[in-house]
Amino acid sequence: MLMKGGIIEGLRRLGVEPGAILVVHSSLRSFGYVLGGAATVIRALQEAVTEDGLVIMPAHAYCLAGRPGVAPFDPAVSPSETGRIAALFWKSPGVLRSRHPTHSTAAWGRRAAELLADHENRPPVGRDSPLHRAALWGGAILQLGVRHSSNTTLHLAEALAEAPYLHIPQHEAWGHRVLVRLADGSAAAVDLVGRERPACSAAFVAIAPLLERQCLTRHARIGQCDASLTPAWPMVETAVEALRRDPTFFLCTNEICEHCTRARQLIAAGAARVAKEKNVTP
Ligand SMILES: [Zn+2]
Repeated sequence: MLMKGGIIEGLRRLGVEPGAILVVHSSLRSFGYVLGGAATVIRALQEAVTEDGLVIMPAHAYCLAGRPGVAPFDPAVSPSETGRIAALFWKSPGVLRSRHPTHSTAAWGRRAAELLADHENRPPVGRDSPLHRAALWGGAILQLGVRHSSNTTLHLAEALAEAPYLHIPQHEAWGHRVLVRLADGSAAAVDLVGRERPACSAAFVAIAPLLERQCLTRHARIGQCDASLTPAWPMVETAVEALRRDPTFFLCTNEICEHCTRARQLIAAGAARVAKEKNVTP
């Protein structure tokens, strides 16, 4: 049975110090039995970094106007779709939640408001989004029992590398507009800011060996949870380099993945065009 002190001790073994900025992706189940459940994990994270640091978690609610049964995004009530710890986190005392209608982000700590400011007027995970700021401020990715397939900051690398498929959504049928609630209480479908549509992340696991080779990732066992800590900015730089070498680096090979299938076709068509131009140009 794991208690708060055991989690804090595990975080210290990973190198988490007071003042640390943590982007946390987590699986509650991975810990085994935690006394007090998700609330205990959240308190342990807060005590480990103190208010001088930041605990950041995804609170994504994909309020795309074409999605069946979707309600307008409302940061006070829209359920997050990113796991049990994150679902409790954004509702916890002192935690702020950004107003982005697809990639809302939650944060706790003295600089939380600054981190989340104006997210609704930024691309979801691109330049000057909260995750970009966290990376530039020296943040680290804390993975608690999850792999890089849930590491949202790797979408930032796709944006910074200007991956040719950034505009392709996961589900074309859900459209490109988002449903928000206006000040007068009415609902409206509006355009999502920017052209980026963070989509499939199944193949993000490909980054792990590149990070291991540079000894960027630290590992520790916390209860039954395999936990790891990776500094965000060096990780993003590694991913950007990989994407510049091979724009398909983060695309999965699952035939039923609408996004990656279209992205591969787009990249292949671009390569064919370049080859043709080279042949005809003297
Ligand atoms: Zn895919």
